[in-house]
Amino acid sequence: MSYIHRTIADLARSSPAQALFYQAVEEVLESLEPLLESDPIYRQNAIIERIVEPERQILFRVPWVDDEGQVRVNKGYRMEFNSALGPYKGGLRFHGSVNAGIIKFLGFEQIFKNALTGLAIGGAKGGANFDPKGRSDREIMRFCQSFMTELYRHIGPTIDVPAGDIGVGAREIGYLFGQYKRLTRRYDGVLTGKGLLWGGSYGRREATGYGCVYFAQNMLLGRGETIEGKTCLVSGAGNVAIYTIEKLYQFGARPITCSDSTGTLYDPHGIDLDALKRIKEEQRLSLREYLKEFPKAEFVPLEAYPEDGHAVWRFPGQVAFPCATQNELTEADARHLLANGCSCVSEGANMPSTPTAVELFVRERILYGPGKAANAGGVATSQLEMSQNAGMQQWSFEQVDQRLQGIMLDIYRRCSETAAEFGQPGNLVLGANIAGFRRVADAMLQQGVV
Ligand code: NDP
Repeated sequence: MSYIHRTIADLARSSPAQALFYQAVEEVLESLEPLLESDPIYRQNAIIERIVEPERQILFRVPWVDDEGQVRVNKGYRMEFNSALGPYKGGLRFHGSVNAGIIKFLGFEQIFKNALTGLAIGGAKGGANFDPKGRSDREIMRFCQSFMTELYRHIGPTIDVPAGDIGVGAREIGYLFGQYKRLTRRYDGVLTGKGLLWGGSYGRREATGYGCVYFAQNMLLGRGETIEGKTCLVSGAGNVAIYTIEKLYQFGARPITCSDSTGTLYDPHGIDLDALKRIKEEQRLSLREYLKEFPKAEFVPLEAYPEDGHAVWRFPGQVAFPCATQNELTEADARHLLANGCSCVSEGANMPSTPTAVELFVRERILYGPGKAANAGGVATSQLEMSQNAGMQQWSFEQVDQRLQGIMLDIYRRCSETAAEFGQPGNLVLGANIAGFRRVADAMLQQGVV
């Protein structure tokens, strides 16, 4: 049995039933093979065995009372994975599907993503199996207050700084921050994605989506093209998808799809951004609503999806941006994308493409930006928010956006140069994993066995 498969088998024994976590680990370890062979120091010091184990796993009960007076209980998580490069940093996800395996996969990915930004941030992730959908504002506030009543004792501006993710946006960060402040009497930069009136950074809301488009543009420029005039497929209709679409319009591209948990929307004229923001950000309704205003658009409900994949990837487009959730782009989807002339994929979501879809993209040598590189603009801008908070400053939108563009270019270069160094030019999966790993692993070596 190979070293990698032995590691996965050990994980499956010691941390059972965490399939998404093993998937994330396998993808990283496979890319690391050339590095582990050329430099034995990492294996000699058990860096792999240490890096797959979170430094600390916090699991807690989140009791709260719904609007009918009924007591509800959810499971809360914070996985503090790795602090070699800086304070733990990574989002909170509130979604019915959340479990320890999902949070561990996200936390593990976060270590390498954060390392790739070149900034001083460690990796973590957290959340709860709570679904804000259909809950009143007051229920969400009570849930967030209960969640923070446990979490506050584990976090701090130089210890662990959570942010948003699926189901955690500006509203939830506000309630979480309010409770933190009440419990600690401290006005700390302990969360990022805060409101602009109370310590937030300009550009943080837009950063993941904008960054993902900057990454695609960098990949295309490397091939002597630009994104201008290209037809684009986007999945998701949340924070990342909306600001991906906004930046695509600014760059003169035409995004023709988006999707949510009810189905896929296709508008050949381009998705109307104002309508999308109104339906998803303000009203929090299904994308189906879009048809009321634009009856010529098409909506494919979830029930009508192909058995082997997702409707969104079956429309023809030149560049694809998966921005919803994990494993939302299958091998069959990848084949359709390629057959329809798609030659660039930039991942806004975390691990949205299945392993066999990724294999196909790499084998066919299309421009493929894995999530840990392409969506790192969000966490990078969160770190800029931390810097502003520490210096009691607020930078302008233009300043933040300039920094974001520079960081995305650096990440692209770091991945490309590392891929070339290991004899696989253009393989950004290998480049991202090795470049991210090497930075964390070298810091771990220098800090001793801790
Ligand atoms: P949001 O909650 O704002 O939006 C998520 C979108 O994806 C919604 O449209 C939601 O549909 C849809 N969705 C979520 N889960 C599913 C599912 N199981 N099946 C179908 N559709 C689903 O989250 P974000 O936009 O913040 O996050 C999207 C992705 O980007 C995630 O993978 C996240 O980890 C990643 N990411 C986010 C960052 C950020 O800064 N926010 C940073 C880096 C990565 P509906 O509207 O119906 O709920």
